[in-house]
Amino acid sequence: LMQLSVPLNFIGFIYREIRQGLTDIEQMFDLLDVPQEIVDKPDAKPLAVSAGKDEFRDVHFSYDPNRKILKGISFEVPAGKTVAIVGPSGAGKSTISRLLFRFYDVQGGQVLIDGQDIRDVTQESLRGAIGMVPQDTVLFNDTIAYNIRYGRIGASEEDMQKAAELAQIGPFIERLPDGYKSMVGERGLKLSGGEKQRVAIARTILKAPPILMLDEATSALDSHTEQEIQAALDLVSRGRTTIVIAHRLSTVITADEIIVLQDGQIAERGTHAELMRKHGLYASMWDRQREATEAEERLRIAREGD
Ligand code: ATP
Repeated sequence: LMQLSVPLNFIGFIYREIRQGLTDIEQMFDLLDVPQEIVDKPDAKPLAVSAGKDEFRDVHFSYDPNRKILKGISFEVPAGKTVAIVGPSGAGKSTISRLLFRFYDVQGGQVLIDGQDIRDVTQESLRGAIGMVPQDTVLFNDTIAYNIRYGRIGASEEDMQKAAELAQIGPFIERLPDGYKSMVGERGLKLSGGEKQRVAIARTILKAPPILMLDEATSALDSHTEQEIQAALDLVSRGRTTIVIAHRLSTVITADEIIVLQDGQIAERGTHAELMRKHGLYASMWDRQREATEAEERLRIAREGD
């Protein structure tokens, strides 16, 4: 029996390793969210990024033919500027980020980067030019160092740690017993949403892409974490063409332009001050969020008084 149990254990071990490997691959595809149908044109060229200007030109899109999600969206993000996209849940905000990354092709209109239709360039060069900080970062079952280096495989230890510092996660990592060698993901340390997002920011700092796409977490973060993340994001987006899918209105105040999306169309656009003066959808979203924050604050004070 002893003789048999060794190989069985071994088979069990191999099986678990393979399964884990598959989970990693699945996660990677989830991470990249790659629908298989997008293929490079035979004559696709590498994207030539000069200034990094993004443009959506009369974009129409639907996931399923019976339901239009974007109905003629046009906006530009001038080189180095920040455009924030806000709007009710389901308005199509994250869809815009998926289209810029070309996870799907538009059904009408064009998405351009520095004047090049993204359907004419290689996906590899397109994705190499865009840094994506998603809402929910999937971490690989590996060390935290590996997860940060994923932004630029081959980055030196020093650069990797500097990126972590800039992303405001360095001190946290250094306090872990195994530091940067700590295992994270399913089999290791479970990081909080805010910590994972800072790992994603560190990755993006290492990648140093000309174009940034930030999808803010919808989940509530405590205000200290939120401030830390905001500081890290401000730092990465400085001087880079940035689109922010904003779920918290506090982050859009400084945007060069705010696009208010409603029902697949641009309902309003302008700076924070301009939109507040309009007393329209944006102003009412802002009022509602402020009321919610104030109510939370009152609740907190009442609790502390107990
Ligand atoms: P939220 O603020 O809640 O994240 P959003 O404005 O980012 O919302 P999107 O994620 O862009 O909204 O989704 C827009 C609409 O498209 C939603 O109604 C959603 O149900 C639908 N949708 C999103 N992804 C898919 C998909 N893969 N297949 C079919 N429909 C989808």
